[in-house]
Parts: sequence; C-alpha cells; structure tokens
Amino acid sequence: MTLAKAYAATAATSPLVPFQFERRSVGAHDVQIEIAYCGICHSDIHQVRNEWGGSKYPMVPGHEIVGHVTAVGAHVKKFKVGDLAGVGCLVDSCRTCPSCERQLEQFCQKGAAFSYNSTEMDRVTPTQGGYSSAIVTDEAFVLSISPKLDLAAVAPLLCAGITTYSPLRHWKTKAGDKVGVVGLGGLGHMAVKLAAAMGAEVTMLSTSKSKEADARKLGAQHFGLTSDDETFKRLAGQFDLIIDTISAPHDYNKYLGLLRIEGAMVLLGVPPEPTPVAAGSLIFGRRTLSGSLIGGIAETQEMLDFCAEHGIVSDIELIPVQQVNEAYERMMKNDVRYRFVLDLKTL
Ligand code: NAP
Ligand code: ZN
Ligand code: ZN
Repeated sequence: MTLAKAYAATAATSPLVPFQFERRSVGAHDVQIEIAYCGICHSDIHQVRNEWGGSKYPMVPGHEIVGHVTAVGAHVKKFKVGDLAGVGCLVDSCRTCPSCERQLEQFCQKGAAFSYNSTEMDRVTPTQGGYSSAIVTDEAFVLSISPKLDLAAVAPLLCAGITTYSPLRHWKTKAGDKVGVVGLGGLGHMAVKLAAAMGAEVTMLSTSKSKEADARKLGAQHFGLTSDDETFKRLAGQFDLIIDTISAPHDYNKYLGLLRIEGAMVLLGVPPEPTPVAAGSLIFGRRTLSGSLIGGIAETQEMLDFCAEHGIVSDIELIPVQQVNEAYERMMKNDVRYRFVLDLKTL
C-alpha cells in the first residue's frame, strides 16, 4: 500500500479539502502511475454535488489522468517504469460479457468499475480518482500517451476527447458532413476540433456570443447564438449530426428541428432533470435522438493515436490543486476556456 495525497469531497454541500488515503499494492497486472495532471470534467461537479444521486463520500474525483509509470507488476507487458500513461473513466470491467467482448467496457453488463464514486469489481472496495498523487490500475485499463504532445493538455482527452470522438466515429462522420456542436465547454471544444479534423463542416451552437471568435479558431466554420430564436429558423433542417454537450436542462425539441431528414442528435450532457421530447420532433423527418457514454478502452487508445497524428490536444487553463473549488464556480458560470487541468505537483 502507498499513501496518496489528494483533494476530496466529504459531502455534497461542502468544498473539496485536502485528504489522504491508501492506494493498493502493485499486483501482477497492475501499473502504478505518479499523476502529473488531471482535468476537471463537469461530471466531477455533478457527482461531488450529488446531482445524479447515490454519491459516496469521501470522494476523490477526477478521470482525466496522465502521468509517469513508477512501478509495474510481474505480468505487465505494455508498460515499463518511466513511460507516460493515462487513465480515463474506466478502471475495470468483467471482461467476459457481450459488451466487454465487443470492447464496449463502458456498457459492461455486470457494471464497469469507474475511476471514482464507484467500486472495484468486488463491489466492495471504493475507487478514487485523479485529484491525487498516484493511482494503481490494471494495465488492461491503462492508455499509452505519445510524448509528442503537451502532457497537461493531453489529460482532457481521457474523457472529453473520447466522449466526443466515439459518437463522431459511430455516426461515421466524414468530409463535408454538417455537424452542429451544442455548448462550448470541455466536451464541446473537443467535439469541434475532432469533427473539423475528420473534415466536417462544423457549426458551433452556443449561449455565449463572447465565444464566437474562439469557436472559429477551434475549427468551427459557422456560429449560431442559441439565445436568439432567429438562429433556429436560419439553421432549420441542416445538420447530419448534432452533438449536444449541455450540462443543464434545455429543450431538445428546438435542436431536433435543426436536423436534416434522417439526421441524428446525440446527447452527451447529463442534466440532473429529465426534459420532455415531442414525438413530432422525431417523426417529421425520421430523425434519431440518441446518447453516448465515453468509449471503450480500444477506442480510447485509437482516439489518443488519432490526436497524436493530427496534433490535437485540449485548450487548457493549468491551475494549482488548491484552486479546484474556484474552478468549479467558474464552470458553473460557463467561464471555462476550455478545460481546467490540475497540476498535481502542487499537492
Ligand atoms: P462544461 O465544460 O461545464 O461545458 C458545458 C457547456 O454547456 C457550457 O460551457 C455552456 O456552453 C453550456 N451550458 C451550460 N449551462 C447551460 C444552460 N443552462 N443552457 C445552455 N447551455 C448551457 O462541461 P463539460 O465538462 O463539457 O460536460 C458537459 C456535460 O457532459 C456534463 O453534463 C457532463 O456530466 C457530461 N459528460 C458526459 C459524458 C458522457 O460520457 N456522456 C462524459 C463527460 C461529460 P456555452 O457557453 O457555449 O453555451
Ligand atoms: Zn468526464
Ligand atoms: Zn462485462
């Protein structure tokens, strides 16, 4: 066992505070990583504040983890001490169910082990995330990171990157496709970069007029202000695919009207409350409303390799871990450009 330093939530209503806990000893298949950086995902805020229900405390959040390997177990093949490595939202799964066999570990039918606010597959041992100095993870769930990219800016790829890459691939985004991205935060800015790299014509749909210039720099060719009803008239019936990353409740029906016939809208944002969908929003145009959850481990590695090849990283604001509570407040005001990343050296 090694003692890890961390920041943890102890209740839904109090700020994160310094915390210490034991990481398990390195088993035969395990990789131990000294964490250098961890991104802040809006899912961290939802779970810290128990907005989805069932949160367990103390909770060390964080599932956009990168660092250096400091120890490996006897049977580890892919990693050696000193290598760069990453851990995302998944730390284990049953590995034998139909979902796991299809490399969709996020949909493991026995329930995957998520990086925090979850348990190991024994269903007893709590998992703790990346706002911490070290993590020990089975090598099957550890990702290889290219040294070509800025390490701190790679961290958000482990969740924001894969969560947006996976639906773009599933819906076979190709050159010339019209893709709308809704919400310009951590997920949204990665969706713009990745869709543009796949050759799509990207439109940013945002409540923040002040983000228009950035959206264009990130690769969007068009911008629509969603607080203006004219935008929904102007862009009606246009998009092959809409990627919705909004973290708060909003009217899906308005956005469904922007899809072409047989177009699809994919929900990535997980607002705490449900929103009604009118059958007519889908029926008139045989449109699809879908959702997508992160991505499997093989696809996460594919995404990291794609980003290394195309020189894609996240646009980040690197902050000391002591500023985590302030970062949460700024994210709640849509004031993030475009991912906060914690520098764990400051722990
Ligand atoms: P974020 O960085 O806070 O960005 C969310 C963006 O949504 C904001 O910047 C804002 O963009 C827009 N927004 C926020 N409140 C809004 C409102 N009331 N009305 C309209 N637009 C609003 O969050 P994130 O880290 O990208 O995460 C986004 C959501 O995805 C969260 O719910 C998170 O839990 C979820 N998530 C899901 C998965 C998955 O696997 N499906 C994975 C990771 C995260 P504008 O300023 O441009 O309007
Ligand atoms: Zn996340
Ligand atoms: Zn499984």
